[in-house]
Amino acid sequence: MKELVFIFLGPPGSGKGTIASLSVEKLGFLSLSTGDLFRQHIANQTKIGQKIDFTMKSGNLISDELVSDVVFDWIENSVPLGETIILDGYPRTVVQVEALHQYLGDRNQLTKSRVIHFVLRNELILDRLSHRYTCSDKNCQRIYAFDGKAVLQHVCDACGASLIRRADDDHETAKNRLKLYRKDEKQLLDSVENLGFYVHTLDASKSVEDVFKDFCTFITGIKNNENAEV
Ligand SMILES: [Zn+2]
Repeated sequence: MKELVFIFLGPPGSGKGTIASLSVEKLGFLSLSTGDLFRQHIANQTKIGQKIDFTMKSGNLISDELVSDVVFDWIENSVPLGETIILDGYPRTVVQVEALHQYLGDRNQLTKSRVIHFVLRNELILDRLSHRYTCSDKNCQRIYAFDGKAVLQHVCDACGASLIRRADDDHETAKNRLKLYRKDEKQLLDSVENLGFYVHTLDASKSVEDVFKDFCTFITGIKNNENAEV
């Protein structure tokens, strides 16, 4: 099974995606993007892809069950043994939390799983989102946040493509997304805690570097504990 499973929970704009990217780049973790997986399944015309395609074309929302199937299929078939994974953007609903809990429990993976809760005030999030740029290259999409540097250089460090503002980041859109997220957040956190997931809180108001440092310290703590137990 997997080395460790990190489940990132937190509002849009809390820096989850950035910390996930850094973990992929610097720690060699694998990170999940449900959006990319949906597109891949559709392009490859898999059974799951056909279901997703049909659901979207009929204007319906993709069911919790289907989303979970996509995630579990990814873990089973695309993640080599012994890799540490980050689930970012999944689970989003209580039903998905329960499905994930069941899945990890069936594989004796719950003790290796940690929910990372990114905590940040609404005002700070909205301030950040209004300063956020995204790489325009579809395969890169690196996010540049609030440090002023991206605004000055206007090209992506990773691939050299130009940086753009996403429509998502417009103030009203951001406010609405945040409102929707907050509406479900408490329920989501309650279900995670009630099921017995270990929850670790990160203070996401710090700089990206410091949040990443805190995350690395937490990982070192887990590994040291494991070694102590052996
Ligand atoms: Zn780029």
